[in-house]
Amino acid sequence: MEKVVIIGTGCAGLTAALYTARANLSPLVLTGTMPGGLLTTTSIVENFPGFPEGIDGYELMTRMQKQAERFGAKVKFGTVESVDLSKRPFTLTVDGDAVQAETLIIASGAGHKHLDVPGEHELEKKGVTYCATCDGALPMFRNKPLVVVGGGDSACEEATYLTRFGSAVYLIHRRDTLRASKIMADRTLAHEKIKPVWDSVVTEVLNTKENKVTGVRVKNLKTGEEKVVECAGVFVAIGHVPNTQLFKGVIDMDDAGYIKPKRGTETNVSGVFVAGDCSDRVYRQAVTAAGMGCAAAIDCERYLSAMNE
Ligand code: NAP
Repeated sequence: MEKVVIIGTGCAGLTAALYTARANLSPLVLTGTMPGGLLTTTSIVENFPGFPEGIDGYELMTRMQKQAERFGAKVKFGTVESVDLSKRPFTLTVDGDAVQAETLIIASGAGHKHLDVPGEHELEKKGVTYCATCDGALPMFRNKPLVVVGGGDSACEEATYLTRFGSAVYLIHRRDTLRASKIMADRTLAHEKIKPVWDSVVTEVLNTKENKVTGVRVKNLKTGEEKVVECAGVFVAIGHVPNTQLFKGVIDMDDAGYIKPKRGTETNVSGVFVAGDCSDRVYRQAVTAAGMGCAAAIDCERYLSAMNE
């Protein structure tokens, strides 16, 4: 039986792993389908303290994993299929195998939000993508016009990154001001290859008949005018949804699926703690996720100590 199982290897999960490992709890850390979490899909992380020149997202997560493993964390590639938190010890089914745990730290992060317009799902991987760092360099996007949808930091980051490959990058945003931080917004709008398309939404991704992206149909929300923006790729960066479906009906969460802790990082189920983007709809930063992972580990360690007293 495991003393601590941590679901997720993003900033929250790996920081919780570091702290619980240093408390001699030998945590089992399950990666899910995206080892390293969403940060592995970004390019340079410029706002994680301690890296004045910035650090590649993948590199940062690799270092965090190594640091946790150095103190005895057991990082395992595996996806949790179901959980039984109704009795102790808890039982998790991980890729068909049962794993028993005294405590659980949920750090399952968040996934990409979809546009849910015609053509989007049909053309996924045929020009529609949710990650510029993963897919931007593909030959199909080289020297072609590209579209990024969204107005937050992610959209700005994606658009800026894609200027390396595309002939032009249309940034389609539903309002006339960016939500992104000022430094990111200014940098993005100053780039000669980035062309903002304000007050507009994508209503359809074209062209399912050709089985590849050839453009997007765009509607201006102020004027009602519709037009087609020709492009070879659509990079959707409109935010995230928490990966918490597994816990629906068992762990308290809000309407959007973000886990609501009861006190600190404790959830409504005694012995289950939560950290990171799956419970944070406000800050969602690498450093805040790491901080929450640290707090969950400390809460978990104290809980186990109190149980064994
Ligand atoms: P976000 O801040 O929630 O922004 C999402 C953007 O998508 C918003 O501009 C929103 O429009 C738009 N949007 C949402 N739903 C839409 C829809 N259905 N159709 C069209 N547009 C839609 O998400 P994010 O940019 O992924 O950032 C998430 C968090 O990560 C933030 O806290 C951000 O600061 C952080 N982050 C930081 C960095 C960095 O510092 N390097 C990089 C990436 C992300 P409205 O503005 O109108 O709501």
